Amino acid sequence: MSGPRCVCDPRPVRRTPALLLAPLVAAAAALAALPSSAGAAPVADAAPAAVVVPAAGPTPSSWEGGVAVPYAPRWWPHGRSNPSAPWASGWPKPVLFKPTARGELSGVRIALDPGHDLGNSSHISAINQWYWVGLRKTCNTTGTATNAGYPESTYAFDVVARVRRLLNAKGASVVVTRDRNTRATYGPCVGARGSFPSQQKADLMVSVHGDGAPSSGRGFHVITPGVLQGYTDDIAAPSRTLALRMIDGMRFVGLRSTTYLSSPLSVRKDVGTLNMADVPTVMVETLNMRNAADARLASTAAGRQKIAMGLYSGIVRYLRATR
Ligand SMILES: [Zn+2]
Repeated sequence: MSGPRCVCDPRPVRRTPALLLAPLVAAAAALAALPSSAGAAPVADAAPAAVVVPAAGPTPSSWEGGVAVPYAPRWWPHGRSNPSAPWASGWPKPVLFKPTARGELSGVRIALDPGHDLGNSSHISAINQWYWVGLRKTCNTTGTATNAGYPESTYAFDVVARVRRLLNAKGASVVVTRDRNTRATYGPCVGARGSFPSQQKADLMVSVHGDGAPSSGRGFHVITPGVLQGYTDDIAAPSRTLALRMIDGMRFVGLRSTTYLSSPLSVRKDVGTLNMADVPTVMVETLNMRNAADARLASTAAGRQKIAMGLYSGIVRYLRATR
């Protein structure tokens, strides 16, 4: 949207201590249920071993064959000729998921970006650091939550895992910007997320979020980069096409588009993840977590699977039209 209200901004989240603790309790239970050897991920090539940390909350807890990408990508802040912002040690790590079958998408590589991280709210000084991403922006934000306290970061992490499984089963490789959702990590910064897909030679990237809009409105919208010379002038047109196909895909599975914006297509020049991207990239605000009906969708596995199917359908539609 182009108005003053910023999606995914760190609005005050009203959570009782008990609600705040609920995801941690779930995470502890998940950790306790794991055998001691569960921390070792399958390692391919020269990739470093990844330590598996189950996401907190009702979200997939298995690694499912993912491997750490062979190097930690760096990103290039505006005006710098040398990489000066490495993938920070406190960030979740990027990870690659290889296809689980051959199929229509064999040879395609998709980047997925689950928004925020559960630990952003406990690393406030780090995520409030300023960076240049076509405009001055902070590293990241805390994200929003349902009124019952289900965090956007956990929701996005779960949905991305579901989309990734669908893509892998159709033959696509999937690279994901973060491998965990814990209070111990934060970020990555939005500039790193944006520069991730081109460094990973991905064909496109979809960043997955849940909005924190007024509770009266519901439904998804898709943010596509406007033309920002030197940044998005090369990807604005294909990203817009991707955004339109994402809207088609979401509608195809029966998801409703936004009731609180005038259009499900939002063109913006102030989203760091989009500004720093060099492949077609969109950000999908899949629902409004503050709305009761949308919160019910977000809070059930069936609801999140439906969202994932919509995202998957959009990606496939775009690839069919452009390959
Ligand atoms: Zn967000």
